[in-house]
Amino acid sequence: MLSDRKQCTGCGACAAACAHGAIFMQADELGFQYPVINQKNCIKCGVCQKKCPVMNINCKQDVFQETTNIYAAWSKDKKLQKQSSSGGIFGELSKDILDDGGVVFGAAYNESLELHHIAVFSVEDLPKLLGSKYVQSNIGNCYTQVKKYLAENKKVLFSGTPCQISGLYAFLNNNNSENLFTVEILCHGVPSPEIFKQYLKYISKSHLHGEVVKEYSFRNKKCGWKNFCTQARSDRHTYRRFFYEDNFMHGFLKNYYLRESCYQCQYAIPQRYADITLGDFWGYEQFDYPKFNYDRGASIVICSTMKGNELFSGINNRIYCRTVPFDDCAAYNTVLTHPCKMPEDRNKILNIFHEKGLVEMLGQFQIPPRPISVKILSLFGKLPYHFINEVLPKVKRRLTGKRRS
Ligand SMILES: Cc1cc2nc3c(=O)[nH]c(=O)nc-3n(C[C@H](O)[C@H](O)[C@H](O)COP(=O)(O)OP(=O)(O)OC[C@H]3O[C@@H](n4cnc5c(N)ncnc54)[C@H](O)[C@@H]3O)c2cc1C
Ligand code: SF4
Ligand code: SF4
Ligand code: SF4
Repeated sequence: MLSDRKQCTGCGACAAACAHGAIFMQADELGFQYPVINQKNCIKCGVCQKKCPVMNINCKQDVFQETTNIYAAWSKDKKLQKQSSSGGIFGELSKDILDDGGVVFGAAYNESLELHHIAVFSVEDLPKLLGSKYVQSNIGNCYTQVKKYLAENKKVLFSGTPCQISGLYAFLNNNNSENLFTVEILCHGVPSPEIFKQYLKYISKSHLHGEVVKEYSFRNKKCGWKNFCTQARSDRHTYRRFFYEDNFMHGFLKNYYLRESCYQCQYAIPQRYADITLGDFWGYEQFDYPKFNYDRGASIVICSTMKGNELFSGINNRIYCRTVPFDDCAAYNTVLTHPCKMPEDRNKILNIFHEKGLVEMLGQFQIPPRPISVKILSLFGKLPYHFINEVLPKVKRRLTGKRRS
């Protein structure tokens, strides 16, 4: 028996650890990977159970320990910051590892826009890993590759969701090699690969004149970081919507089609697993911090280990950075303290998807009408948005003498 299905994160540590090739990962009807044991090959050694991070308590770094430092930060490299979903800190950290002859692992689309973890060896290939993709990434045989590169004395930066980081540590027997650096994202939950696959077909048919989607971005920053867009591109056409107008994003943010384990995520707590944790600094503007350039993307950076602190201090001269209290980070980022809630009508929505199809399911979503400021923004680009949302409130605060708490 492996982990209870509701708790299984699909990290793949059990499959990677089975020396008898008795476990394979199989997609369910929503495209989420689950382990299946081939009883013919299984010798009942129990290794897979010992490796499962859900069945065994794994190492955790306490966010309130002495080595922990918490920052608001973003890259000074405008191009990198634009390509990234928040402040571009992952890209900056990766550059140092790659410049040192190391390997960086992370989530990348393949040609069919399916998401897999891959290894990248050069700065030229780094853009494949940049940006948040709101779908579960298939880990494949990456843990085994990490082990191989560490044995070759290469520096390895492994990035992913906290459950993937904990899967890697479990696979490596918590052997924290000094050449291994881990970066986890703050994780709201991962949506269904099957629904995303069908959504791409729907976008192609309904918005791209039947042309195949070649590029997909969940976090396009054309209108800023806070007001990000979803963008799909085919050879000749582009589909772009503000995040709350896009159907797939709507269902994601309403938690309709996340993996079941995400609703009881054991990693949505202040204690962190990786050397460095990265997230969006949602609510940054609510605090009395400098406001220059932050709407290109502001990151939360939690360095939990000495190794994490050292790697982060190496990029110091290429980023803007200030220390911040944990409570400011957690104020607008619930996943630092608790998992997202399963909506009461999740089963109803998923049943509609299974029985009647994607379009019927999307028809259930109530997309809110565009606010007037956004209508202006979409007509003229970023400037009016910046004026309405940033400049006007500042002027108002000056006039009324009010400061933000
Ligand atoms: C599914 C998902 C949910 C998230 N939820 C939150 C949240 O609730 N709160 C919050 O503050 N931040 C969340 N983030 C993280 C945030 O969006 C940024 O990815 C993070 O701040 C790093 O930003 P960056 O600019 O430094 O790097 P970026 O270039 O934006 O991020 C690239 C990094 O993200 C990893 N990545 C991208 N997609 C996936 C994926 N599907 N699975 C595993 N790794 C992936 C890449 O491997 C790489 O390490 C989430 C990201 C994802 C993918
Ligand atoms: S018990 Fe041993 S042989 Fe059987 S699936 Fe688990 S690791 Fe493989
Ligand atoms: S090791 Fe990972 S994939 Fe295997 S049962 Fe445990 S949580 Fe699921
Ligand atoms: S919410 Fe938790 S279980 Fe779900 S993908 Fe993120 S870290 Fe893994």
